[in-house]
Amino acid sequence: MFAKVIVDIAHSRVDRIFEYSCGDGVEAGCRVKVPFGGRISDGFVIGVSDVSEYPSEKVKSIIKVFDETPALVPECLALSESISARYATPKAASLRLFLPSEMRTGKVREAYKNFAVFATADVALGKSAKKQKEALLYISERGEEEFSSLCAKFGRAAVNALVAKGAVREERRQIQRAPAPYISPDYQPKILTQAQKDAIYSIENSRQTVSLIHGVTGSGKTEIYLQVIADVIKKGKSAIFLVPEISLTPQMLSQLRARFGGEAAILHSGLSAGERFDEWWRLRSGEAKIAVGARSAVFAPLENIGVIIMDEEHDSSYVSESAPRYSTRDIALMRARYNGCKLILGSATPSVESYLAAKEGIYNLITLTERINKKPMPEIIIADMKREVRRGNSSAFSKALRDELESTLASGNQAIIFLNRRGYSQKVICRDCGYVAKCADCDVALTYHSEEDCLKCHYCGARYKMLSACPECGGRHIRYGGTGTQRVVAELKEMFPAARIIRMDNDTVSGKDGHYKILSRFAAKEADILVGTQMIAKGHDFPSVTLVGIIDADMSLYFSDYRSGERTFQLITQVAGRSGRAGEKGKVVLQTYSPENYILRYAVNYDYKGFFENEVQVRKATAFPPYSEICRVMVTSADDKKALDVLKKVYFAIEDIRARDPDEFLFLNKMHSPVKKIQGKMRYQTLMRLKSDKHLAEIYRIAAENTGTSVLVYVEENPANLS
Ligand code: ADP
Ligand code: ZN
Repeated sequence: MFAKVIVDIAHSRVDRIFEYSCGDGVEAGCRVKVPFGGRISDGFVIGVSDVSEYPSEKVKSIIKVFDETPALVPECLALSESISARYATPKAASLRLFLPSEMRTGKVREAYKNFAVFATADVALGKSAKKQKEALLYISERGEEEFSSLCAKFGRAAVNALVAKGAVREERRQIQRAPAPYISPDYQPKILTQAQKDAIYSIENSRQTVSLIHGVTGSGKTEIYLQVIADVIKKGKSAIFLVPEISLTPQMLSQLRARFGGEAAILHSGLSAGERFDEWWRLRSGEAKIAVGARSAVFAPLENIGVIIMDEEHDSSYVSESAPRYSTRDIALMRARYNGCKLILGSATPSVESYLAAKEGIYNLITLTERINKKPMPEIIIADMKREVRRGNSSAFSKALRDELESTLASGNQAIIFLNRRGYSQKVICRDCGYVAKCADCDVALTYHSEEDCLKCHYCGARYKMLSACPECGGRHIRYGGTGTQRVVAELKEMFPAARIIRMDNDTVSGKDGHYKILSRFAAKEADILVGTQMIAKGHDFPSVTLVGIIDADMSLYFSDYRSGERTFQLITQVAGRSGRAGEKGKVVLQTYSPENYILRYAVNYDYKGFFENEVQVRKATAFPPYSEICRVMVTSADDKKALDVLKKVYFAIEDIRARDPDEFLFLNKMHSPVKKIQGKMRYQTLMRLKSDKHLAEIYRIAAENTGTSVLVYVEENPANLS
């Protein structure tokens, strides 16, 4: 037999199929060790055949086969082909996506334990063999027990004697390190509301592959997902349930365990390498049928998938930040098509792109307008921080927020204070009138670069002089930074000395389950106020929280990104949704320097549709996505000269495309990246705005051809961050 092998080296030079001879047990999808270029390399078998194209003396043999069951299912092999084609990435890099990294490094293996299993009581035991008799009686009642535990109870000699006589068998078995199935004692299956039933009917009977559920927070979306998954499992199929990592809270985990027990494999960052490995094999072996996890769970080794669900579909964590820079939605759609199953996207604040697709009839749109408990959304009060400054209040807290905090604490409820760290210390804003410095050509906020003391537009590279006074009102209170969590906590302590405060940000969260610990403490009411950044924005259910304070709502509003309005709307809605979930009505105080901004107006009224209509008009008028494609080809290297050479090659190759098809290009230029150097690597970019994705494949190819070991070249589509 001959195996077609992709060696596990992600480089375009070895990105082809090599042939090796092999025994009969080798199948497509197996991982193997092969001799390669004078060394030994890992590889993936992507096919086998009886004949070879090469003379037999030229074909080397496979050294070792790793898996009895091929690690990669046929769908994964097919999908990796599509991914390589879509993102112009070497086949080895695409195949790696489908394996847990623990498996590739070989550092983690299956865990085994020995068991003592009762065989027969029909053996002759001596009169004095008291321990043996006891052990035999014990094991005959139990059937089996871990070998070491039986030895601990009755002595190794007695157990060994029973084994020697054939009364007990010793068996070596693979064990699961998966966290034990947790059954929540108060778990009750819910009776679905009519709206939930209608939603499920609509998903199942829609002609479209993709359904988008736009449902306000608390409208019962999660319950819909769980029901659809249960239906699919009943039909003998499997399911993928994707959530942003931050949503895998202890509450969510126990809900999933309660409902699906061991049938769900939950891949979250709190697992040890061994646990992740075992959970992965439980999916591969078919023991578990539901893969739950953050974006990489879209590569779960499942067959016969009946549904794929992407909760919080707008979340930016669904785009990979390392090669290949895939969009989880793209991959999910590929898998849904392959399996002929449905893809469900859900959000309280869908991305403009997805909602547009739904409005245009490409996706099936489902709208849930009411909360399950019919509770109104919390009231949002706007606090005008310009007025606070004029009144001489220089603290981070408006009077409104201070008053609300006081009454919340007095009533024994809890409060969350949210700081918007995205765009931290980048925007330039006048504290007197709320003016924000924007690019004249791009209508996006400028970013301050301290090393050059200038303002830059990240979309066209234009530079502007730093402001010393506001061009609108002449005021000199120009602000660059935001407020830090530490300062907020210090001010809170001064205002409310008796309040118990927990801070949650990158500095206080350490270790894998650091943020679970902090959140559990807050949920257990060990504190009155939780102060935090983006980490606390979503997915958590704290029944006693009746107040949410948003310190600087406009921090992300003027982040230099065409999506800043969208992100701000999403963030406010998410954070506001933390207030008043159970008993009393919740309140939200939103502090801003631009109270008249239309995004905030829509957010305050929970008017997603109004926001969306306005936003698409702006995007259309300015030709920003989804009405165009922003594409950036990054060139990074420790060697400045080499980087520049490659940048020019890339740029001129793209120039050639423009020469052929000038109408497709709304913008094209090469430049330093706004952040010129990261970890000693110089950063350059060719930036373009294209009318469509028509030339993307060619641009990916250009990048792949120019990337190497000393100079890295990669493509980003509509990047979330242009720094
Ligand atoms: P979403 O995901 O849209 O925010 P959830 O599915 O989490 O909403 O539902 C919000 C709350 O309502 C949860 O506490 C959930 O347990 C409860 N809930 C959902 N559906 C039902 C139902 N059919 N009957 C009773 N309670 C429900
Ligand atoms: Zn510009």
